[in-house]
Amino acid sequence: MIDLSGKRALVTGGSRGIGAAIVEALAENGADVAFTYQSSSEKASAVARSVESRGRRAVAIQADSADPQAIARAVEDAVAALGGLDILVNNAAIGHSGNIADLNLDDYQTLMDVNVRAPVLFAKAVIPHLRDGGRIITIGSALGERVPFPGVTPYAMSKAALTSFTRGLSRELGPSGITVNLVQPGATDTDANPADGTAADFQRSLTSLGRFGEPKEIANAVVFLASSAASVITGATLTADGGAIA
Ligand code: NDP
Repeated sequence: MIDLSGKRALVTGGSRGIGAAIVEALAENGADVAFTYQSSSEKASAVARSVESRGRRAVAIQADSADPQAIARAVEDAVAALGGLDILVNNAAIGHSGNIADLNLDDYQTLMDVNVRAPVLFAKAVIPHLRDGGRIITIGSALGERVPFPGVTPYAMSKAALTSFTRGLSRELGPSGITVNLVQPGATDTDANPADGTAADFQRSLTSLGRFGEPKEIANAVVFLASSAASVITGATLTADGGAIA
């Protein structure tokens, strides 16, 4: 039985896909939730209403993860609205496809800013607010572990960096009773990677279960790591990919 009553969470990229499922699952288990989004204001409002329908507080904050000032403001706004923070979920990220030989440097920089620098900056801003029992959970990717096809090298690199981020930060925050963990989804049915997309059958063929994951299944892993049931787990990676990298 998981009980997150009284916990206050900040989720990045909570307007759609896996992030929206995480926001709703945290609220379902009793947490109040602030979340960021980039441009989907109507979808963000719908997610906020869904949280409020569960009797929890919701705060939707427009903040581009590529902008350090927006990140600092988002954390300030979340703390002000919820009265503090207990859980950070670094979820927002962008994809990138193409070979290194064709790499556009601006695209590469934006990818690294959103996928790597933003989780670091969100953690830096949130750490002063966390107390014993606090949680930092980051969404990586199974592609950060193994790269079974070409054309995703920069994205895989950005997600691999989050493993060292998680391990190193767990060493820094362990003495304060704060855990830091990584969830690595495999192919999950979202706007970014629809289960009926052109490469979907190939991705399914890589898995043991023969299917995509659902956003809710990734959210379940996050809720577990956010809970007291995971109190001794830190610096760990939980891969939720249907066995794709088994
Ligand atoms: P989606 O593209 O479906 O949703 C992305 C979310 O992040 C949206 O809420 C979006 O906001 C937000 N976001 C994107 N860029 C920014 C930005 N610059 N600033 C603020 N918010 C931003 O992605 P998924 O749900 O598929 O992916 C979620 C996480 O899971 C990511 O970390 C991804 O790398 C990881 N993942 C996904 C897999 C999959 O197969 N789907 C597989 C492995 C990992 P807005 O709605 O406003 O655009």
